[in-house]
Amino acid sequence: MGVATRGPARVLLSARDLSGCAHRLSLDHSLGAQGAAEGDSPEVARRKEAATLHRTRVRELLRAIHSDEATAAFVAVDEGPRERRVADTLAAVARGAQWIWNAALPDDLADRRRGHSELLAHDGVGYVPIIVVNHRVTRAVAARSNGDDPPRPATTSPLWTWLPMPDATRALRPNRRDQQRLQHLTEMLAAAGLSGDRGTGPWLAGVIGMDADCIAVIDVGPLRAEFAHLTYERLAIVDQLVPTQPSRIGECRDCSWWTQCEAELLARDDVSLVVNGMVADALRANGIDTISKLAAMPADAAPADWRTGSFPDAVAAARCHLTGQEMVRRSEATPIARADVEVDVDMESYREDGAYLWGTLLTDRTDPARPVVYRPFVTWRPLPTTAEAEAFAAFWAWLHEQIAQAEAAGKTFAAYCYSEQAENRWLRGSADRFAGMAGIPTRTEVEAFIASPRWVDVYAAVSANFYCAKGKGLKRVAPVAGFTWRDGEAGGAASMDWYALAVGLNGGPPDETQRARLLQYNEDDVRATKVLREWMGGDGVKRLPTMRSLLG
Ligand code: SF4
Repeated sequence: MGVATRGPARVLLSARDLSGCAHRLSLDHSLGAQGAAEGDSPEVARRKEAATLHRTRVRELLRAIHSDEATAAFVAVDEGPRERRVADTLAAVARGAQWIWNAALPDDLADRRRGHSELLAHDGVGYVPIIVVNHRVTRAVAARSNGDDPPRPATTSPLWTWLPMPDATRALRPNRRDQQRLQHLTEMLAAAGLSGDRGTGPWLAGVIGMDADCIAVIDVGPLRAEFAHLTYERLAIVDQLVPTQPSRIGECRDCSWWTQCEAELLARDDVSLVVNGMVADALRANGIDTISKLAAMPADAAPADWRTGSFPDAVAAARCHLTGQEMVRRSEATPIARADVEVDVDMESYREDGAYLWGTLLTDRTDPARPVVYRPFVTWRPLPTTAEAEAFAAFWAWLHEQIAQAEAAGKTFAAYCYSEQAENRWLRGSADRFAGMAGIPTRTEVEAFIASPRWVDVYAAVSANFYCAKGKGLKRVAPVAGFTWRDGEAGGAASMDWYALAVGLNGGPPDETQRARLLQYNEDDVRATKVLREWMGGDGVKRLPTMRSLLG
């Protein structure tokens, strides 16, 4: 929260205050707010920890890069009270530092801003802000294959010197929050007289992303007027001049005000509890603001200007909420591709570092005597490591051996995953990163496999066949099919912590119990996928109502 001192006229906006839920902004700055909100959720705490670790790595990288320069060239401001960091930053400026790490800028009391920049770089005119973020900020530009215009090249600077140049090999991945933070810092630098006289020239600013291989550069100058207006709007909320109220959105998942907001939404029977934020806004605009009103709507009576997704699905959401129904069949049949030999696959990755585990479960439907066996292909060498390539190569070889054996015996074959997006990303990524190493398929071979009917996305089949009131994640839908995970805490976020312990990422010895836990979790995921798709093709699924019966 960017509050210097409580009291309407003295609240300062931080970069975080510029985006996100208006009600959260209002609550954060309301009188009596202190202590009312709950602390960070485990997921938010995890993200913050990862971001801190990333910033530390970048700081050390930059320190090493500039280690042979004069001591004043790269100055790192120590952590500590804000006033001291501001003083140290200004002292570094006075000494003519070329780069200032962990810069705290003087409060801008006139325009009510407070902020800090991971890095400042002097570009010969004055300082430009550079932030360090834990997501990708550019993407590689693929060679043109279909005559389309190539994406606009990014402007990037190397890390070792501020030298912004067009970079035809990359395109920017725009991020609104990053851009707003850079605008915020740019205005603060200008207010403090640290940006130099730029006149009508560009106002460049930079972002160092997850890969920390360059500085992505953007010109925030053209958006300064628009940004001033945004700041004005957000300050009006902070000053409690604009009333706000809760509406459930994605941000609520990790918001410390959720308990309070949920109670309010439940009391209002608010429609946002059952549909997403955009649909809720569209419904409210048409006078449908409660779940009861929505549930009472005929499914074929969409408002005349309805353009926001499926109106029957919105009505189904309200009726499922009232009846407690979790899944509804879209039609009588719920088809999914089947084969004689079926392999369920689930991959586990750690952040952006790599994929350390490919778990498989083989079922031969033509041979009931053949045991259904879980086989993991795993490395416990901490990522990133080339041992990941060995595990991936072993998985790929085994999978293709099964395909060859099945086809030699005249049997059909299919491999299944739940939501191919993640698996495909690491199939392609592994082929690219380990190209040329023993047993690694080419990118073309991987693409051919992904495009083949042998690779089946069960998530896509669930999406096509069901309306899922509580979401379509495997942990949501497999229990409806009768599956339960052995570990009550199983989940993607928890598995990150388990992995860190399993390989000793935090400096401790590797924890064998967490390795066993991850393998069990992965095995349960592939078993859940199998149970779910077999259920879809059986009679049990027929106990679910159809959309026709729910909406009729
Ligand atoms: S819980 Fe949701 S509605 Fe409430 S303040 Fe947070 S983001 Fe806004």
